Amino acid sequence: MPSPLRLPSIDSLLRHPACQPLATRYGRDALLASLRQLLDDLREGVLAGELDALEVAPEALAGRVSERLVAQQRSQVRRVFNLTGTVLHTNLGRALLPEEAIEAVQMAARYPLNLEFDLRSGKRGDRDDLIEGLIRELTGAEAVTVVNNNAAAVLLTLNSLGARKEGIISRGELIEIGGAFRIPDIMARAGVRLHEVGTTNRTHARDYEAAISPRSGLIMRVHASNYSIEGFTARVPTAELSALAHQHGLPLLEDLGSGILLDLTRWGLPAEPTVRQALLDGADIVTFSGDKLLGGPQAGLIVGRKELIAKIKKNPLKRALRVDKLTLAALEAVLGLYRDPDRLAERLPSLRLLTRPQADILAQAERLQPSLAQALGDGWNVSAVPSLGMIGSGSQPVARLPSAALCLRPQVSKRLRGRSLLNLESAFRALPIPLLGRIDDDALWLDLRQLDDEPAWLAQLDQLKVEHP
Ligand SMILES: *Cc1c(COP(=O)(O)O)cnc(C)c1O
Repeated sequence: MPSPLRLPSIDSLLRHPACQPLATRYGRDALLASLRQLLDDLREGVLAGELDALEVAPEALAGRVSERLVAQQRSQVRRVFNLTGTVLHTNLGRALLPEEAIEAVQMAARYPLNLEFDLRSGKRGDRDDLIEGLIRELTGAEAVTVVNNNAAAVLLTLNSLGARKEGIISRGELIEIGGAFRIPDIMARAGVRLHEVGTTNRTHARDYEAAISPRSGLIMRVHASNYSIEGFTARVPTAELSALAHQHGLPLLEDLGSGILLDLTRWGLPAEPTVRQALLDGADIVTFSGDKLLGGPQAGLIVGRKELIAKIKKNPLKRALRVDKLTLAALEAVLGLYRDPDRLAERLPSLRLLTRPQADILAQAERLQPSLAQALGDGWNVSAVPSLGMIGSGSQPVARLPSAALCLRPQVSKRLRGRSLLNLESAFRALPIPLLGRIDDDALWLDLRQLDDEPAWLAQLDQLKVEHP
């Protein structure tokens, strides 16, 4: 029986010339930690006799620990190429910020600022005041308060205005948005008793009316996100619902989800209700996201009647859900761009990407097709084709954006295609800037609507390690 292999000691490795440059480069503590992890990981393999002497030689171990140090030094937060065809992709960070907002974030990160300090009076200020003027101008709301995201906005509003009372809502609006955001659960956590009215497809004014009682605290309306109810449907217009609510002294909350500030049809996008219209129709409080169609940082905006906003701001939960200075700085800069709608589509990245003409994207796909075909080599068919993308983040779930893609098909029997596509997908994910597409119809689709940085994309193609399918 051959004598068992032994791993070198940590001390001997630390002193070994192959490890010296690593200590200098990454620091002795980091090297020590990585060496320990490596030896721990190898121990089992050694005991099982799976490793040979060369594999546990100090030089080989130094090489492996160096790979680990490189990987550990690399940030876990990584830039990627979003070629999924979904523009506001929640898992990929939703809206991209405009330069103006990036500068504002840098300023706010680098210097002290008047976050809660009134420069005119020299007294303590309120962070919401920093954007209140803009919000009033852009939406017609009397007041605003900002929290961490729209889920927080809904939770805080419900809890502030309806705790221990009933919240009346149509059965057709008891939605789940994803990431465990379900209206009935949020209501329960907010301490509001759910009183659902109507049916899944049809709810009438008389349904709401019959539900109103001394126990009622509010009426809520939730914008259809992520789904669409079509066919034999009925819903009470906001103006009528608000009149009913006010007759009975109840506030009407409207959760718009992806609230927008301007009518998007002027840019050829599907119609979505604006925040201004919801308020004009009589909603007392409107909540919406900062990083959906608005195109800003993650945030939840709560706008509406002054006395209700004051009540919301007094809720101790507000303190727990408030936004930080970087978010506020970015949000103010994004809102500022809305003052000049004529230039908005050039300046706001999400709107610019959403309105990119299909012909433009298709021309780009045709331009890039040869280099990708070459990088993939034999066995792959690469074509530049029209495709359909979507807005994402629950905005306009059934609307499709005419787009264009590089469509990659493995030239193998149908049985083997699935495996080849998964391998290709993982090779794209292993690139220095991981590239994410979408598998559909036995092909991998790279939707180019969001491919801005063509040089960076081309520059890493030669690092693509893909096997013949
Ligand atoms: C997206 C959405 C939310 C949650 O917003 P976040 O900003 O993601 O927290 C709540 N309500 C509706 C209707 C939505 O579409």
